[in-house]
Amino acid sequence: MEHADCIFCKIVSGEIPSSKVYEDDAVYAFLDLSQVTKGHTLVIPKKHTKDIYETSDEIAGDLFARVPKIAKGIKETFQPLGINMLSNTGEAAGQSVFHLHMHLIPRYGKEDGFNPLWKTNGDAYSQDDLLTISKEINSNI
Ligand code: 5GP
Ligand code: ZN
Repeated sequence: MEHADCIFCKIVSGEIPSSKVYEDDAVYAFLDLSQVTKGHTLVIPKKHTKDIYETSDEIAGDLFARVPKIAKGIKETFQPLGINMLSNTGEAAGQSVFHLHMHLIPRYGKEDGFNPLWKTNGDAYSQDDLLTISKEINSNI
């Protein structure tokens, strides 16, 4: 169901225009206006769901099932060197539109405008630390 005041629901319904890349019964894909790199595409479920926490297995399955063919379409079109898939959950993680979406960002080189830099801290964790953390998370799944 369309969610009031959700721009991506309005894109799905056609109320807000978009550059459609792909559409079927469950999923809509369109160009991100920001075009971080050429071909930057958003893949969204047609059914409104705020973020990954609120997403059912069925919607998540439908969404991710379409990602390979859309990614291959981008690859075929622009021959990028790679593609980053990214989905932000929560404002702190950079989510600005609260309708679940997967960014597909084709990569053309280190200076292509997308800078997914993060520092690694592997040295600060022992095998025991990792085991403790993994068990903690597992106990909440
Ligand atoms: P987020 O920041 O939530 O991960 O990503 C939201 C994305 O939606 C942003 O990259 C932004 O450029 C894109 N966006 C926001 N409004 C519109 C719109 O009206 N049309 C399109 N095509 N993209 C939008
Ligand atoms: Zn929505």
